[in-house]
Amino acid sequence: MLNVAFYGVRGSTPVCGPEVIRYGGNTSCVVLNGAEREPIILDLGTGLRRFGALQGGRPFAGTALVSHLHWDHVQGLPFFAPVLKPGGRLQVFGPPPAEHHDLRTAFDTFMQPPFFPVRIGDLAGHIEVDHCPTDRFRVGDAQVLAREIPHVGRTYGFRVSRGGVTVAYLPDHQQPAGSMDVPDSVLELAEGADLLIHDAQYLPEEFARKADWGHCTIDYALQVARLAGVRRLALFHHDPLRTDDDLDLQAACARQVGERMGIEVFAASEGLQFALD
Ligand SMILES: [Zn+2]
Ligand SMILES: [Zn+2]
Repeated sequence: MLNVAFYGVRGSTPVCGPEVIRYGGNTSCVVLNGAEREPIILDLGTGLRRFGALQGGRPFAGTALVSHLHWDHVQGLPFFAPVLKPGGRLQVFGPPPAEHHDLRTAFDTFMQPPFFPVRIGDLAGHIEVDHCPTDRFRVGDAQVLAREIPHVGRTYGFRVSRGGVTVAYLPDHQQPAGSMDVPDSVLELAEGADLLIHDAQYLPEEFARKADWGHCTIDYALQVARLAGVRRLALFHHDPLRTDDDLDLQAACARQVGERMGIEVFAASEGLQFALD
């Protein structure tokens, strides 16, 4: 059994306003949890602050798998209260960025004055930052696979299996121009997953204008889900322009298409959590 909780589902930048109140405006952060086990956090977007606030002041120990370093995937880290206290411990794994010697240097670069007043090394808790292993590896009793996937800059998708349940997480995924082909690395991550959490940022007319911005259409997310034979698809990384009413409509259309493929489709929303078994 694996609990899945969505704390941030928005792509690119946080948004707020009455028109996004139901799906939420925080950026990418999903937490996988089993009873009595250390959580696995998927991305450190602004949703991470909310997850931290719900920890009740307890010292935190857990692992974060970071897909890439775009702001919407790391911006919550400085506001994650459980690692700002003594005793807090967070292990971060992510891809080695092309522009820096290592991932830790890249984190230190964005978390220092004048961008932010406190450096990682000055926090009371301990944050360890390492390159993600490229072979299968274990986090507690979960098995994790990371693979590079198409986006803008080096980006990983993740496959996490625990207790016979598998979640695949591909929040930012560049759809190929003029094709619905799906790379082998993506299929390896998503193959037979119980839940695929996938980029669904654009409508076809938006993708036509933003074909090299690193994202994909809802139709492409459905294509990945179909080819990989997944059970459920969570539409994720919603465009900042998307209102709750837009998402209701798009999710309803995608759900109908998914039903014909035997896939349960929904639009991820902030605060949604459920058990997978
Ligand atoms: Zn993103
Ligand atoms: Zn990105």
